[in-house]
Amino acid sequence: KRKPMIGLQPEGDVDWSTYRGVLVVVEQRGGRAKPVSWQLLGQASRLAAKLEAPVMALVMGSNVSHLAQEAIYRGADRVYLCDSPELENYRTRPYSRVCLHVIRTYKPEIVLMGATYTGRDLAGAIATHLPTGLTADSTQLEVDDERLLLASRPAFSEKMLATILCKQFKPQMATARAGVFEALPRDESRTGEIIPVPPQIKPEDIAVEVLEFLEATGKVNLEDADVIVAGGRGLGGPAGFRLLEELAAELGGVVGASRAAVDLGWISHDHQVGQTGTTVRPKLYFAIGISGAVQHVVGMQNSTYIVAINKDPQAPIFKIANYGIVGDLFHIVPAITETLRRR
Ligand code: FAD
Repeated sequence: KRKPMIGLQPEGDVDWSTYRGVLVVVEQRGGRAKPVSWQLLGQASRLAAKLEAPVMALVMGSNVSHLAQEAIYRGADRVYLCDSPELENYRTRPYSRVCLHVIRTYKPEIVLMGATYTGRDLAGAIATHLPTGLTADSTQLEVDDERLLLASRPAFSEKMLATILCKQFKPQMATARAGVFEALPRDESRTGEIIPVPPQIKPEDIAVEVLEFLEATGKVNLEDADVIVAGGRGLGGPAGFRLLEELAAELGGVVGASRAAVDLGWISHDHQVGQTGTTVRPKLYFAIGISGAVQHVVGMQNSTYIVAINKDPQAPIFKIANYGIVGDLFHIVPAITETLRRR
C-alpha cells in the first residue's frame, strides 16, 4: 500500500495490489496492426513472466475482431475487444474513454503503447485522467522485485539514458519506440479469452467528424519495412541515393540514411536511422558507405541480417554485419541491382 499524493488521486490509502498484469494497447489502421503492437506484446510477455501475471491486449476500432485472435497468437492471455463503427478513425476522446473504462475495470499494473503519433496522444490523454505517471519514448522496459516498471529512455540530447519510475500510482504507463523490442513468434496453438467491451462514446465526444483519411505520400515508412537499403556520407552526394533507390526497388524495400547524409541535405530526415532518427528492425538491412558510428548502430542493430558495403576494411560497421563487402560502392551496388534484375 502506498499513500497517494494529495490532489492527484483520492485521499487516503489506495490498495494498489489489486492492479495486476501487463496491458498492451494494440494500434491498428484499417484493420492492420502496427508491428510495434506485436513487439510490445513480446516484451509484455517477458515482463508478465517475471511478475507471474497475465498479458492483456486492448483492441479498438471498426471491423477489428480478427486482431483480437491475432493478439492471442502473439502472446496475449486475455483480449479486450471494442469493435464499433464509431471507432473507425482514431479520435482522442472516444478512444481514451474505452481505454479508461478497461483500465479502471480490469486494473492492469502496467500499460504499454507504441510511441507513435497515436500512441503518444492517447497515452498522454489517459495518464492525465487516471491520473498517473507516463514515461514517453522508452527504449528499455524491465521490472524490479517490487513490481516497479523501470522504463528507460534517452535524455539530455540523447547523451544519457534516464530510467524513470512511477512509484506511487497504478497503472505504470509507458510508450515505447518501434523496432526496439522483439515480437514473439506467431503461435496459432495459443489460446486465450476475448472479452467484448462496449464503446463508451458520448455524443459530446464526437466533436470532430473525420470525412476522409488520406495517407501522406512521399514519406518513407522505415518502421514497417522488411528491407532497408541505407546510405551514408560515402555516397558522395544526393545522386548516390539514386543507386540505392534502384536496389531498394528490386528488393521491395525502402531507402534509409545516416545522419551525416541527412545533415548534408542529400535526403530528408524521415529517412534517418539511428539514435536521433528511427529505430528499425527489418529482415534485411544494407549499410552502404556508412562507417558504423554508435549512434547509427543503436538504431539498426536489431535487424535480422545486416549487409555492409564499405571501402575501408577497418570500418566499425563490419563488426556487426552478417555479410561484409569491402570495395567501392559505386561498382558493387549497381552489380547487385543488375544481378537481381536478371533473375
Ligand atoms: P562517415 O562516418 O563519414 O562514414 C562514411 C563511410 O563511407 C566511411 O566508412 C567510408 O569508408 C565509406 N566510404 C566512402 N566512400 C566509399 C565508397 N566509394 N565505397 C564504399 N564506402 C565508402 N548518426 C546516424 O546515422 N543516426 C543518428 O540518429 C545519429 N544521431 C546522433 C546523435 C548525436 C547526439 C550525435 C552526437 C551523433 C549522431 N549521429 C547519428 C552521427 C554519428 O555520430 C555519425 O557522425 C554518423 O552516423 C556518420 O555517418 P556516416 O557513417 O554516413 O559517415
